[in-house]
Amino acid sequence: KELTIAIDGWSSCGKSTLAKALAKELNYVFVDSGAMYRGAALHAMRNNLVSRNHVDINRIIASLSDVKISFKNNAKGKAELYLNGKNVEKEIRTIEVSNSVSSVAKIKEVRLFLVKQQRIMGINGGVVMDGRDIGSIVFPLAELKIFMTADPDIRAQRRYDELIAQGDKITLEEVKANLIERDEMDSTREESPLTQVDDAIVIDNSNLTPEQQLVKALALVKK
Ligand code: C5P
Repeated sequence: KELTIAIDGWSSCGKSTLAKALAKELNYVFVDSGAMYRGAALHAMRNNLVSRNHVDINRIIASLSDVKISFKNNAKGKAELYLNGKNVEKEIRTIEVSNSVSSVAKIKEVRLFLVKQQRIMGINGGVVMDGRDIGSIVFPLAELKIFMTADPDIRAQRRYDELIAQGDKITLEEVKANLIERDEMDSTREESPLTQVDDAIVIDNSNLTPEQQLVKALALVKK
């Protein structure tokens, strides 16, 4: 039987890295739900409906009918995010989007809009989805739920290295501040906050290589 696997956890914990590796190994579909929230945030940013200190909730809700989010695999088989038919994979990873996404993700209607699509993606099982509310809200009946955590400094360093590698001009302090701010907003918001559900298995990957994490997760699948 093909399972539904939910991976939740703090920002920049390597959730997507593990989810992707697991999906590849099991021949399942991988869905990065955070990319979908980033796509929605990018759309709001382009329409000047969100910035660091301002969110136009009503107009963001009204504009959701103009937001078409999809994933398409690139030539290397890596899933990339499309917003209204355009590849925005690179843009959604910028610090500007990271600084606004949690303000958009806290809007109830935005969540309903994306959760509906996420549930359809996992309707037949055979899916590994990572995010903040996958085990609690999107797939509460998932057969395997993993909650990932890691030391904040290690997380910040990993994300910083990633951003520098893609050519971003940024400091480690900026990256760390963003992670802390998002974790705070994501775990304290009213609407489906980041939660560690009781039936989730915790993986702290501060000192684990991606390979070691995959071995651990595969052992949980086979249980
Ligand atoms: O996973 P990633 O860090 O790319 O997610 C970006 C942001 O999207 C999170 O900080 C959070 O605000 C939001 N998000 C969410 N629920 C999810 C996935 C992401 O609220 N399931």
